[in-house]
Amino acid sequence: MVLPPTETRRLEKDELLQIDIEFFTDKYGKKFVRALKAAEDGKVVKYTFSPSETSTWIVRGKKREYMVIPEVYCTCRSFYQDVVISRETNMCYHLLAQRIAELRGLHESREGTDQDRRQMYIEWRRTD
Ligand SMILES: [Zn+2]
Repeated sequence: MVLPPTETRRLEKDELLQIDIEFFTDKYGKKFVRALKAAEDGKVVKYTFSPSETSTWIVRGKKREYMVIPEVYCTCRSFYQDVVISRETNMCYHLLAQRIAELRGLHESREGTDQDRRQMYIEWRRTD
């Protein structure tokens, strides 16, 4: 899922106006509303691990945390069901929340070691 450049520019604006919200809601439906709320509520976290300098994006959902590979993949059930299996859509709201948070600078940044990362991946990689 790659957002068109016109949409990324729109999401980067200092202030989202009603007309912008309506545009995205028309296009993405409730998914956009959920994604924007998640981004604004600080549910999107970017971890940077050292010394490898790799980063991992996480979106905190109701029950657990989901690992998101920006524009590509999410470990949630909906991504698996609706994107991979039935191909009804090309994204879940976590993927959209990650884009919104990154473009609007709403994400939380955390740091850890590569050892932490190995431990955290065990949980994040779960897809059930
Ligand atoms: Zn997801």
